[in-house]
Amino acid sequence: MKDTSFSRALSSVLHGLNLSLKQQQEAALKAFLFKKDVFATLPTGFGKSLIYQLAPLVAKTMGLYTNSVVVVVSPLVALMEQQVKEASKLGVTAMQLGEQSDKEIFSGKAQLLFGSPEAWLLNDKWRRLLSSQTDLVGVVVDEVHLTYKWYVFPVFNSLNCTPVLALTASADLESRTKVIRLLFLENAMVLMESPNRLNIRLGLHRISGTSMDSLNWIVEEIKNKGLSLSPIIIYCRTLKAIGRVFCYLKAELENTLVGMYHSQTLPPNKSYVLSPFSGEGNCRVAVATTALGMGLNFPNVSHVVLYGVPEDVEGIVQETGRAGRNGAQSHAVIYCIKQHTNVDHKVKALLKSGQTTCLRKSLYSHFDKDPVSNVPGHLCCTYCHLKCVCHQDGCNEPLPL
Ligand SMILES: [Zn+2]
Ligand SMILES: [Zn+2]
Repeated sequence: MKDTSFSRALSSVLHGLNLSLKQQQEAALKAFLFKKDVFATLPTGFGKSLIYQLAPLVAKTMGLYTNSVVVVVSPLVALMEQQVKEASKLGVTAMQLGEQSDKEIFSGKAQLLFGSPEAWLLNDKWRRLLSSQTDLVGVVVDEVHLTYKWYVFPVFNSLNCTPVLALTASADLESRTKVIRLLFLENAMVLMESPNRLNIRLGLHRISGTSMDSLNWIVEEIKNKGLSLSPIIIYCRTLKAIGRVFCYLKAELENTLVGMYHSQTLPPNKSYVLSPFSGEGNCRVAVATTALGMGLNFPNVSHVVLYGVPEDVEGIVQETGRAGRNGAQSHAVIYCIKQHTNVDHKVKALLKSGQTTCLRKSLYSHFDKDPVSNVPGHLCCTYCHLKCVCHQDGCNEPLPL
């Protein structure tokens, strides 16, 4: 296999789709097609999915297979549904185990075959399908920081010489070591881009679980800005918390700019909440579980509120990372609710240290060997803001965030 045939096939496919690739996307795709394992930690919104969506198209154009198939292991049904749609937009035939009829799945027409770790691991039918694939380009393990916990990999390790493309936005250093060990990725090409995005100011505040005053700045924002407000996402830990926050905002406001999004939200209501992220509709504040955002690209979120703390540092990075994907100055604030202590030891330490040292450095030290603070300090985090004496715009403002 030659580099030139890859480059030619890739440019022809990209030209046809009117797309271009970032350097890491191209490097990952190339290595994967050349049967090398790849472990890519790339931030949310980077375009990780595009790497495997293009894989069957480029492999076919290179003439490597008659009908190229890429198998995708994905932990979340909602995410798979979204990915199947996205792939179809690119003209890639994508199917999801259990969603299409077995006849269709076994027809050999699928170029991308999505399934949960349980399906690939526990169902003999799908295991047989997997081992009978002669045109298998490789196996993608999406959201690998979640998937690896399924110990699904003996299935794939039995497929000789099948390259693995492991993707994640937020595996911390410790999880990465585990993933590499469990997936036998010691010789993999490792691609890494720090999730520490300096356009997001990080806030941390302890609040009481009884008063909702901490959300009053959102009420003011909506009253002042109305439809010109950039979208705000409020992530809650439980459906009960979603209900409380939603009702509070609704009671304070007499308009319909607030919506709810969780696993039990009905499809029309989901569309209402999703519309502002594509620049339509009139919902501006989404009160949601972490289900909102998985696999979706929201470029224009100005504020993310973590109402209650996720149980691990990956969760914090995932949720805060949904702010400011368009590069605009944005905010992510963590509200630590006193009574809630359902977090792991790293998060506990983070919440403690965030009061006495740079929160950004503490958070990203789990992901980066050498994380940096932001300058000026008031744009970095709550702690650096308190210490900052630059007196530029925003420096002396009180700290609702
Ligand atoms: Zn800081
Ligand atoms: Zn300052």
